[in-house]
Amino acid sequence: MRFGTAEAGAAELATGAIHLVDDPLGPVTSPVMLARGAEPGPRLLVTCLIHGGENVGPIALARFLREIELTALRGSIAGLLCANPLGQRQHSRLTPQDGMNLNRIFPGNPKGAVTEQLAARLMEIARSEGGDAVLDLHSGGELTITAFYVIHDAKGDGDVEREGARLAASVGSRYQWGSREEWLDGGFFTNVSRRLRIPSIIVESGGGARVRDEDLANFNTALHGITRAMGMLPGDPPVAEDIRRGGNGVHVKCTRGGYWNPAVAPGDDMTGGQVMGEMISMTGEVLETIRCPVPSAWVGSIRRPWMPLYAGEQVVEVVERL
Ligand SMILES: [Zn+2]
Repeated sequence: MRFGTAEAGAAELATGAIHLVDDPLGPVTSPVMLARGAEPGPRLLVTCLIHGGENVGPIALARFLREIELTALRGSIAGLLCANPLGQRQHSRLTPQDGMNLNRIFPGNPKGAVTEQLAARLMEIARSEGGDAVLDLHSGGELTITAFYVIHDAKGDGDVEREGARLAASVGSRYQWGSREEWLDGGFFTNVSRRLRIPSIIVESGGGARVRDEDLANFNTALHGITRAMGMLPGDPPVAEDIRRGGNGVHVKCTRGGYWNPAVAPGDDMTGGQVMGEMISMTGEVLETIRCPVPSAWVGSIRRPWMPLYAGEQVVEVVERL
């Protein structure tokens, strides 16, 4: 069995590389891992670093694939460790060469700008390697700190959407967001779900230019959970308690530039008007108080504390409770 140049026999773990796009110096590739179980079974594709700098994903995935007992694995797990090498080389959420946000422009265009070509290639990989489910790992990267949350595609109500919701409930996160938002229409997971009809979810944790043990543990829980839910590893997935559901992510922006001083943490419950933080001038004056704009929500992510921001930048993502 192959994934890129990785070739694994039964109950073997292989590493290699896969070609994504070309830049002026030639091929741009990603490291890959392929874990093949002893018995045939489902195929799970796990993607990391669609946004550069979101390093929790590849570290957690590589550890997980090296730690699991392959003789107990049914089926195979294909790991694409760096879906956006151009962004990753600059620790950047956006692709520096064309300024695009890769996770907003799917299904891409094989004749478009380099990020659009990358998106088209990732769709090809998902089509050929996605198999039974695609798990896309994110975090807050350099700029943002996210709660341990999961997003599934909730725009339709077919078998694929139902399986996406079931898999989302299996990753051990109490923050379960069924997305219908237009701004996620160009996302990888939404396009894999809607165009390829392969169940696909995003899991996020942490960021703020750090990789914490807590975030690695969350992703380890998520990887064990989804593979158990798919019948690939023995045991039952974790059951999250005190669940916060969400269905609409609202990006709250500052109207004054300055230092951002948050008063809330990722995952906090919010009510309408609640103070979420302040913009502070360099001379220490409060320029603006940021409040929760919707009646009931939880904090999906915050911009990194004390980051200097320009007017119009996002400071908090709140997810409206259903
Ligand atoms: Zn991301």
